[in-house]
Amino acid sequence: MNLWTEGDPVADTAAPDGPIETRWERRQFGAKLVNPANRRKLTIIVVGTGLAGGSAAATLAEAGYRVRSYCYQDSPRRAHSIAAQGGINAAKNYRNDGDSVYRLFYDTVKGGDFRARESNVYRLAQVSVNIIDQCVAQGVPFAREYGGLLDNRSFGGTQVSRTFYARGQTGQQLLLGAYQALERQIAAGNVEMHARHEMLELIVVDGRARGIVVRDLVTGEITTDFADAVVLASGGYGNVFFLSTNAKGCNVTASWRAHRQGALFANPCYTQIHPTCIPESGTHQSKLTLMSESLRNDGRVWVPVEAGDHRAPADIPEAERDYYLERIYPSFGNLVPRDIASRAAKNVCDEGRGVGPGGLGVYLDFADAIARLGRSAVEAKYGNLFEMYERITGEDPYVTPMRIYPAVHYTMGGLWVDYDLQSNLPGLFVVGEANFSDHGANRLGASALMQGLADGYFVLPNTINDYLAAGPFPAVSSSDEAVVAARAAVENRITSLLSVNGDRTVDSFHRELGHIMWEYCGMERTEEGLRKAISLVRSLREEFWTRVKVPGTGEQLNQNLERAGRVADFFELAELMCVDALHRAESCGGHFRAESQTPDGEALRHDDQFSYVAAWEFTGTGEPPVLHRETLEFQYVHPSQRSYK
Ligand SMILES: Cc1cc2nc3c(=O)[nH]c(=O)nc-3n(C[C@H](O)[C@H](O)[C@H](O)COP(=O)(O)OP(=O)(O)OC[C@H]3O[C@@H](n4cnc5c(N)ncnc54)[C@H](O)[C@@H]3O)c2cc1C
Repeated sequence: MNLWTEGDPVADTAAPDGPIETRWERRQFGAKLVNPANRRKLTIIVVGTGLAGGSAAATLAEAGYRVRSYCYQDSPRRAHSIAAQGGINAAKNYRNDGDSVYRLFYDTVKGGDFRARESNVYRLAQVSVNIIDQCVAQGVPFAREYGGLLDNRSFGGTQVSRTFYARGQTGQQLLLGAYQALERQIAAGNVEMHARHEMLELIVVDGRARGIVVRDLVTGEITTDFADAVVLASGGYGNVFFLSTNAKGCNVTASWRAHRQGALFANPCYTQIHPTCIPESGTHQSKLTLMSESLRNDGRVWVPVEAGDHRAPADIPEAERDYYLERIYPSFGNLVPRDIASRAAKNVCDEGRGVGPGGLGVYLDFADAIARLGRSAVEAKYGNLFEMYERITGEDPYVTPMRIYPAVHYTMGGLWVDYDLQSNLPGLFVVGEANFSDHGANRLGASALMQGLADGYFVLPNTINDYLAAGPFPAVSSSDEAVVAARAAVENRITSLLSVNGDRTVDSFHRELGHIMWEYCGMERTEEGLRKAISLVRSLREEFWTRVKVPGTGEQLNQNLERAGRVADFFELAELMCVDALHRAESCGGHFRAESQTPDGEALRHDDQFSYVAAWEFTGTGEPPVLHRETLEFQYVHPSQRSYK
């Protein structure tokens, strides 16, 4: 049986052509406007209150639209964005070290291994400078230098310092900024907030996204909500791997439900594996912890020169240590991009030179930085991260090098959107990690926060007007066929999950699914492994629907039921990820196909065959999806073999 079929190409018709420097300005000028009095007549649903959704809801309400905002946490400020640690990029060039909008654009296109759109990335770099001004005006306490100016540090894949940060809590501070802007609009009556509500279906009427079906997670009540446009800001799907650095609740349901209703899913196989996470410590674990990439500014990565050297790190003399990133990539050293650092760590561990339990770890050593800068300077920059590490491992990183290993961290794939951030379903907009738009096959550090806030504060509030100018659209009736069907689909699914009454927990299925994905669709993929994964995922999915045990009822707070629904969607997504990874018979960024590598083990792209976005259409559970290609053109940054040596 064919695993996929070929469809017509898809094009981003919203993107202007002409000189890249003025594309965004021209799009904004060309887009229709909605006058302030008319905005009050238009309603927008925003699903998600992380950096992307929180900033979008606040800004759209500030502009005068009526907004209804949803999240499944008990408060909008508990969105996963709160966990972001290291920083946010912006091309301010405060350091006067050669940075510019063009350089941020260049680094990001190259960092994404030439699999992102030039127009989007250029706009991201342009808007990055506004984000910092916006957040400073909100009172976000970015770190400052002695003289009072905003401080910067470096992240992987760049040779300039352009990352703004608030110790290791940048996401928290940025989210508090967006959250207070959102709360202001809630208090003003412009945003209606629905916390502890989960979107379980998208409602599409006459070809337009017009609403959602939600479940009240406390009472179990199912309701519908209608609007003139729907914005998904529902985050990434890294938890398909079970173990990841994402918050436990992160899931794909909102995006997947939209995909099932016709929204294309782009590049699902592009997963970011982050090189600096605390290694897994045992089978009891339900999540992994990130150690921010900012630590690679001062920490040096090494393993013993000899395989099987089990001495304590302090007993291994300098000459018997291999600072392999500095050795292999002298220009970027410890600050190579994440995909490169992750693979290098895997390679040294595969050679038997890994450290710690099971040999799945490498050292991140601060001894030099402490000797050079003093312990208090290191503490001031990274104190909370060191404390977190010590609390989890019981080892003091000021004295003993940290042990780190790559882990799933971010998903570059997501719902397909055009330059306006609109999906192929009119009226459905997708922002932040939930879309696929700006990072290509690999995301450079500190770029997700930049993208989420660019989308929410600046891009969407300009582009959505163009769509809404044709509104308000005809009122949707609860008895509309599409509404009745969407609601029934949600109710039937809940009934099905509760009625299986089998003998295996949801988590046991999720853990097994994650294991398959990590093994065959993780850091390294092969054709044989991916084919095997597809058949394993399929049979596990069938077993899930006959053996899962979901205790409790649907009319109460029931976290097993919530998780079961999310895992059911992860099963379908997992299969698509493997199909996408299988069809892309090249290596690029986070997608490393073992059959396609250079003689020195680097990712080998095949631009002649794969320089496109793979946008997949859903045709039914277990049915072959349809591949629509969007060709990528590079007029400014010409694809070349990435070299960080
Ligand atoms: C540990 C960690 C550290 C990181 N550090 C950095 C960093 O330093 N710099 C950087 O640039 N990036 C960093 N990232 C990545 C970055 O944090 C995320 O990509 C980004 O915060 C995602 O923001 P978002 O608004 O798109 O989604 P999220 O913050 O994940 O928000 C998703 C929202 O959608 C809601 N939602 C989801 N599904 C539903 C549903 N079905 N119904 C109702 N609501 C729903 C949730 O309730 C939530 O409000 C880090 C990631 C991790 C895991």
